Amino acid sequence: MTQEQNRAKTRARDSVLAVLGAATIAALPFAAPAPVRAEVVAQPGQAGVPYKGMPALAPIGVRVDHYLPVPGPAAPPVDPAKGYRIQDLGTGLYMVTDNAYQSMFMVYETGVVVIDAPPGYSAKIRQAIAEVTDRPITHVVYSHAHTDHIGGVTDLGGHPTIIAHEETRRLLARANDPKRPLPTVVFKDRYVLKVGSQTLELSYPGVAHEPGNIFIYAPRQKTLMIIDVVFPGWMPWRRWALAKDVPGYFAQVAEIDRVPFETLVGGHVNRVGTHDDVRAQLEFMNDVKAAAATALKTTALGGEMADNDKANPWAVFDNYIDRVVVQCVDAVTPKWQSRLAGYDVYIWDQCYAMEQSLRID
Ligand SMILES: [Zn+2]
Repeated sequence: MTQEQNRAKTRARDSVLAVLGAATIAALPFAAPAPVRAEVVAQPGQAGVPYKGMPALAPIGVRVDHYLPVPGPAAPPVDPAKGYRIQDLGTGLYMVTDNAYQSMFMVYETGVVVIDAPPGYSAKIRQAIAEVTDRPITHVVYSHAHTDHIGGVTDLGGHPTIIAHEETRRLLARANDPKRPLPTVVFKDRYVLKVGSQTLELSYPGVAHEPGNIFIYAPRQKTLMIIDVVFPGWMPWRRWALAKDVPGYFAQVAEIDRVPFETLVGGHVNRVGTHDDVRAQLEFMNDVKAAAATALKTTALGGEMADNDKANPWAVFDNYIDRVVVQCVDAVTPKWQSRLAGYDVYIWDQCYAMEQSLRID
């Protein structure tokens, strides 16, 4: 661990201590012996006492004043006057990004296909296209129904053909959101969009992140866009990026690795991805799964809690789940905290989501 990581960890730990208060410090595994009077040292089962093996990374709901440093090279900068940058993915395909969200556009002989319109910069997408071509937007593809990826589509203007999966249409009809007009063309398993010399292969891999979330593959450019599943170099967004189906999410990351892409557009973070990124994320996910499975097997119900709470089954399970997650976080942290950007931000969420899925899915 670098000095800076150690400092950040110490700061995170100090803010945990500040929240927990002096009376509990003696019970923390990372606390130095402190001159706490015996009568105020809390015992396990009393309020505010951390569970055994409590990791130094601040748990959910505890404020930290400084997160772990972000590893890896800095992203190409976004010109603040423009609010976006364009990345040429080859043969008329471009990514537009503000280094937090990612969308694409594809130029063909007589027009442009736009894939997603994140509202954070959707008002700039026409300007981005104008840097490359003056051809009109004829088609829009929705990756999935979530408004943070398509809710700026009306900023594109005109009356483009809108293509999406049929589940996306169902969800958008239910949402009844004027910012997300219904698709005009839907498909069930597979749809090939051929425009001029350009091709996009759309296919539906089943539920992981969200029903209707599709693979968008550009074969000439060997580029796969699949949104909110793989986060190159980064910890996935909380609770496996809010996956509607956690086992489906695990299967889908493995399936992404089987697509012969060279460039992966994941919809978030500050760069595109590679197969190495997909494999690293899968390895991390499997480590969390194994750690949570071990913790589920080795943690006893009703430990470290007051006897008079044991008639409250919600409390018994809350306590059990917390102790499982404490073990899970503790087990994966040494290997991953300096490898994945934002590890400390969401590791607790991942272990909670993993534990729940392993018990009920
Ligand atoms: Zn989403």
